Amino acid sequence: MFDVAIIGAGMSGLQAAVSAKQAGLSFCVIEARDRVGGKVWSIPLASGRGTADLGAAWINDELQPRVTAYVRKFAMKTISQPIDKTAIVQVSEDERLEFLFGVIPDFPPEEKTNLEMIRDHIEAESQKKEAPKLEDDQVSLDTYVRKLGATEKTCKMVNLWVRAMHGLESTEESAAHFIDYCRRNHGLLAARADDHTGGNYLRLQGGTQDIARGIARLIGEQHIYTSHPVQSIHDEQEKVTIYTSNGRIFVAKKVILSVPSTLFKDIKFSPPLPAALQERSSNTKLGHYSKAIVCYDKPWWRDLGYNGFLFSYVGPISIVRDTSVPEKNYYSLTCFVNGSVGAEWAKLNPHARRRAVLEQLAKGYNVDRSSELWRPIEFFDQIWKHELYSQGALSPIPALGHYVKFQSVHGRPVGNIHFVGTEYSDHWKGYMEGALNSGAQGAEEVVKALKVPGSRL
Ligand SMILES: Cc1cc2nc3c(=O)[nH]c(=O)nc-3n(C[C@H](O)[C@H](O)[C@H](O)COP(=O)(O)OP(=O)(O)OC[C@H]3O[C@@H](n4cnc5c(N)ncnc54)[C@H](O)[C@@H]3O)c2cc1C
Repeated sequence: MFDVAIIGAGMSGLQAAVSAKQAGLSFCVIEARDRVGGKVWSIPLASGRGTADLGAAWINDELQPRVTAYVRKFAMKTISQPIDKTAIVQVSEDERLEFLFGVIPDFPPEEKTNLEMIRDHIEAESQKKEAPKLEDDQVSLDTYVRKLGATEKTCKMVNLWVRAMHGLESTEESAAHFIDYCRRNHGLLAARADDHTGGNYLRLQGGTQDIARGIARLIGEQHIYTSHPVQSIHDEQEKVTIYTSNGRIFVAKKVILSVPSTLFKDIKFSPPLPAALQERSSNTKLGHYSKAIVCYDKPWWRDLGYNGFLFSYVGPISIVRDTSVPEKNYYSLTCFVNGSVGAEWAKLNPHARRRAVLEQLAKGYNVDRSSELWRPIEFFDQIWKHELYSQGALSPIPALGHYVKFQSVHGRPVGNIHFVGTEYSDHWKGYMEGALNSGAQGAEEVVKALKVPGSRL
């Protein structure tokens, strides 16, 4: 019998395993996929020029201590996000504006003032150190900003924030959840920023999955059982028995479950999870958070004076970022195809998806048929909604009213089962840093519950 069985080898599960090992516990990690990393997945280009991050890509070495410690430990090379040159906003099918990093595009003055008013309000709220309010949890972010006087144009921008940050629409997320998410992530502006103040600052030249692989080596790969999807968890008080769909049985004193709460419905729990926790988790939504990565021989957009950053009210792409690694002769534009427009795009067949992406980019960067844009050397797309063991990203968003109502049950241990994952973190929730944070906390809970003598955790 293991001291603890950790279910899931994403960043939170891997961190829980490292912490359990440090505390001297015997453990196993049971993972459904044939790889470690979960929503951290990097794949090599066929051309051999580099690696595409299909999931998490950006870190911040000033604000995210846990992920930075691993990047340094594994001597991983970073590259900062380009913010020089000009960015683009696609306002409608026919209108586009160019702007410089850090300034609001040249919208008409009354639109600009209204947008600044709403942005400053949300930023001020997200800097407050207080608990989410019940009344703000019962309204969507869209309703909340309309009540503050947001114009249609501003509401579109607010919707774009939600698409970009959660893959949903602003009518689908409560104001309290959105604001609290920003609070846990240094504020709205930090969550959105591409410079050293924000979450999209540095990328890793070899891809983020090297962090997961590095942690797996620290754990000892013999302790990680990949391709073992957990089907049922039986908590029998003195022990927990775990059955996988390929017929393996694991027995442990405690379980750390790192599966996103939206996926609890796919696992049989005996006894069943408390009704309140079931209601909370089965009503969460995971966003449509897809990537299309277009790779080129040359950074043609830089030659046109663009830094690659583009955002669009139109879609299907919401945001584009330059994810090149010039040291490796690797040039790419990473397109986030999120929210309801991303959901429609995801229904298309592969060549129609590729065409929709290239056509939107051509309009956005204002290039004609002679452009290099039409001659990518590689093209990837990754639809996380279609992945059985993710079913969307970034992290589960509770139904309106559920965030505050179920705060006392969400993430709290049930019998011998402890819960970890980026969704529970009070620092960088939704990010790799948040997953690492929660994984360490979950292991600490287990160590306390097992009353391990002399533990260093
Ligand atoms: C497109 C995209 C872009 C992102 N960009 C960034 C970014 O730039 N920076 C950043 O910091 N973060 C980013 N993130 C978020 C980041 O990837 C996640 O916050 C983090 O990886 C979540 O880790 P986790 O351990 O909480 O969950 P997961 O990674 O979801 O781990 C859960 C694990 O449980 C496994 N599992 C599920 N069901 C079962 C089962 N029945 N049995 C066994 N195992 C099971 C899964 O396979 C998975 O390995 C991005 C994510 C996506 C998808």
